[in-house]
Amino acid sequence: MADSGTYPDSKTRFIFITGGVMSGLGKGTATASIGRLIKNHNSKIVVVKCDGYLNVDPGTMNPTEHGEVYVLNDGTEVDMDFGHYERFIGVEGEGEWNITSGKLFSRLIEKERHGDFLGKTIQIIPHAVNEIIDWWLRLRDKYNPDYMLIEIGGTVGDIENSWFIEAAHRLKQRVGKQNIGYIHLTYVPMLYNTGELKTKPAQRDLALVNEQGISPDIVIVRSKYNLNNHLKTKISDSVGINKNRIINGIDMENIYEIPLAFNKQNILHSLEEIFNIKIETDMHEWEQLIDNIRHPEKEITIAICGKYTALHDSYASVIEALNHSGAHLKTKVNIKWIETTDIENGLLKVEDALKGVDGVIVPGGFGLRGIEGKIQIIRYVRENKIPFLGLCLGLQLAVIEFARDVCGLKDANSTEFTEEGKTTEYPIIDILPEQKNIDHKGGTMRLGAYPAVLKQGTIVRELYGREMISERHRHRYEVNPDYHKTLESNGLVLSGMSPDRKLVEFVELPKNVHPYFVATQAHPELKSWFEKPAPLFYGLVKSINENHL
Ligand code: GLN
Repeated sequence: MADSGTYPDSKTRFIFITGGVMSGLGKGTATASIGRLIKNHNSKIVVVKCDGYLNVDPGTMNPTEHGEVYVLNDGTEVDMDFGHYERFIGVEGEGEWNITSGKLFSRLIEKERHGDFLGKTIQIIPHAVNEIIDWWLRLRDKYNPDYMLIEIGGTVGDIENSWFIEAAHRLKQRVGKQNIGYIHLTYVPMLYNTGELKTKPAQRDLALVNEQGISPDIVIVRSKYNLNNHLKTKISDSVGINKNRIINGIDMENIYEIPLAFNKQNILHSLEEIFNIKIETDMHEWEQLIDNIRHPEKEITIAICGKYTALHDSYASVIEALNHSGAHLKTKVNIKWIETTDIENGLLKVEDALKGVDGVIVPGGFGLRGIEGKIQIIRYVRENKIPFLGLCLGLQLAVIEFARDVCGLKDANSTEFTEEGKTTEYPIIDILPEQKNIDHKGGTMRLGAYPAVLKQGTIVRELYGREMISERHRHRYEVNPDYHKTLESNGLVLSGMSPDRKLVEFVELPKNVHPYFVATQAHPELKSWFEKPAPLFYGLVKSINENHL
């Protein structure tokens, strides 16, 4: 395809990120890192993720299998890679930026039933591929970004993402090669017995990429060690690009170092060459934060008490939110995982579990297993004045614990658990009225960003610094309005409410009772960025630091 055709006038540059050899190489963090580097005060970025699976969205997948479900402002449940994009680049994603094969085929079949293709045989090529290209171009026309980063999930060669790869190749015909950069992540393993890096799998991978019609402009090599010149030449020769377009992507302890590592290897210069433009970047504050991480002044331990603790990916955003606050407060935050089923089964005592722990997070979750263990932990941290942050289910359990122990409502519980066989006279947490008649499980929770009004003089109001805020949600249950008064009269501060005052969004104990006992029905971890940490996590780390002094 010649590069000299005429194409509709658009400033948008497309950057594709593909991966090969195997999954799990960190395409998401690579995409996010490149996005952060090309971002500056006046560039606009859209990040698109194409996922091959046939689920419409990952909301119905098990977090132990697929990692955390990430929720966007508009309520779309997306792949956790969106978390990386938002945290690194500081963009807020939109549901239509995630194209799954499930969404793609639903749309095609809907069109077919509607009669849009009358007389035609609908095929992957051209129909599915054109549908993808039209989707990308629709996003370009709607947002008019300077850059559109498009990450293609899975590895090149998988059947289920082949239509996305084909579309990436064919986009040239629509926008011109001069407006597209192809970046491919490959892998160079090390032979254990000799400690030698072997490039053969990468060479085969790149041959496969070429076969699919894509010639990478930049290759990022994931490996344990940096490739020497000789090995770089082997890779660059197999794609026919200059050696300086081969970027080492070695394993890093801290993912926020990745943009700086790419920058050092002049990836921006390569992009400038590809697009024939000048790219300004500003990594000053970022470098400062990295310096804070490298030279922390304090070290603390925070326990995350959950059920999916076997797979830390299910709490990825919570961990990152702690890292962000730690970086800003020059504090190294160690995480201790507590499996709360062990506590309720009597295998672990609360005081043993919390030994050496400076603060506790009870994060979101579903189902009865582990619940009573979490409630025991909350009682302990409330009584022993250990800083505590409850997130979503964490708020619901803090309210249950407070109702049982302080308000004297002995078996207070959530109707989420009475559905699983528990009984209660006091359904202090109850299903949201609009959730009562829903039996479809996909995308039907109370999802996405909702506003809350914060009460004057509270911890949360001070941390957010304003009265009206917005956080993202993913839940079906809420504090039962019949009990708002009882909770308040017993000393629980309902510090943030929905604007119509029906839903409790934040609760806390007054500072003279407890140094930091704060919980929210929202998931503020979904809006924590490296350069702008979420206020409640910042408050937790800060209160621990102050307690330590
Ligand atoms: N299971 C609870 C609910 O549905 C909490 C959900 C969550 O923590 N995300 O309301």
